[in-house]
Amino acid sequence: MLSSISITKKKQNGTILSQSEIEFIIQGYIAGTINDDDMTNWLKAVFQQGMTHKETMDYTQNMIESGAQLDFSHLNGYVVDKHSTGGVGDKVSMILGPLLAACGCYIPMVSGRGLGHTQGTIDKLESIPGYCSSLSLTQFKRIVEEAGISIIAQTEEICPADSKIYALRDITDTVASFPLICGSIMSKKIAEGIEGLVLDIKVGNGAFIRTLSEAKKLGALMQDVGKHYGIHVSICYTGMDQPLGNTAGLWCEVMESIECLKGNGPDDIMSIVFHLGKEALTLAKIHNAEPLLKTAISDGSALDKFRHMVSAHGGNLGSMDNPKTYKPLYQKEVLAESEGYICYMDTLNLGKGVVYLGGGRIQKRDKLDPTVGIVWHKKTGDAVVTGEPIMTYFCSDKDKFERCKLYFKGRIRIQSELPKSLELIYKS
Ligand code: URA
Repeated sequence: MLSSISITKKKQNGTILSQSEIEFIIQGYIAGTINDDDMTNWLKAVFQQGMTHKETMDYTQNMIESGAQLDFSHLNGYVVDKHSTGGVGDKVSMILGPLLAACGCYIPMVSGRGLGHTQGTIDKLESIPGYCSSLSLTQFKRIVEEAGISIIAQTEEICPADSKIYALRDITDTVASFPLICGSIMSKKIAEGIEGLVLDIKVGNGAFIRTLSEAKKLGALMQDVGKHYGIHVSICYTGMDQPLGNTAGLWCEVMESIECLKGNGPDDIMSIVFHLGKEALTLAKIHNAEPLLKTAISDGSALDKFRHMVSAHGGNLGSMDNPKTYKPLYQKEVLAESEGYICYMDTLNLGKGVVYLGGGRIQKRDKLDPTVGIVWHKKTGDAVVTGEPIMTYFCSDKDKFERCKLYFKGRIRIQSELPKSLELIYKS
């Protein structure tokens, strides 16, 4: 008879699991017959031993089949999505999704919450007062049809397996595993009923994948899975050796995304937004991608799409226009301890800092503080003088704030020579 303990032992010993053993684990966990502790042991075994190509395909298939698969073939426009493997300050979905909708595409985006040291799109969007990310599939479809874009979380109806497993991986250090990342991302994307997908695989000290050669292996695996399900996948590799943009956190990232949609975005974010946007429009066979994307920013149509989506999800539009919506109770600047150039940012631990301040979960049921975040005043390669502020961190919980006082020390390094510039977009 199958049991999660015997299947986990097999995986720990390096034995390849059968389709029915993988199905037993996923279905058992959704049904509640496998508890969090046993599932954690299985995830850890997969994390350590990996999965074969066939096991990964079976895992992904089971993840998809845990919920509904949508069909948007009646729409008069290309149905496309973008997903990233996760990074610090990565707010690209909130900008690129509405931008593609403004260019005539439809984006039914099932996104995630925070994962490990990274903050998730859903947690950021839910910092907008009223924004509901757990909609029924009927509501989701209606918003996609009317606004061109809807961003929801995994629900009981769509990708319930990823919803539960994702939340457990978040707090059990089992994120950086190729089969688990592949199954998690591709099950969401395939269930959405899209025609094309742009994948942003993040590489660097703040990503789950540290080297380009590893990233390419993951890219090939995900491309294979996409092909199997008839989706055109375009893969991009982008740098995560420093946070993306000037903020990481919850509400502060929504505010920065709005600035990007208004045409005031930092160069690094906008370069990635336009790069991925061109890939998406190429999949859609829409020509003149670059001018089209730039016009949708300059004429305000991308911002209108974002506001339309937020309002359709119950979000309070007035809150986004009011700079006083959230004012963190505590904030502190981190000052340069010497003169020179910023040469290294410990992006992983800066992201963990956001979690410790209350912007992510340490326990499954932790409630997030929307005011949490970091603003960087300087990025790698910038010159600083002694005593100049390099970043400010903030939150509204006194204990968490006090505990982080020493935590951020030394996370950003300064040297006297100008460092080599960091790679932002790798050649595929
Ligand atoms: N994003 C996801 O949706 N899942 C992962 O496992 C990693 C990033």
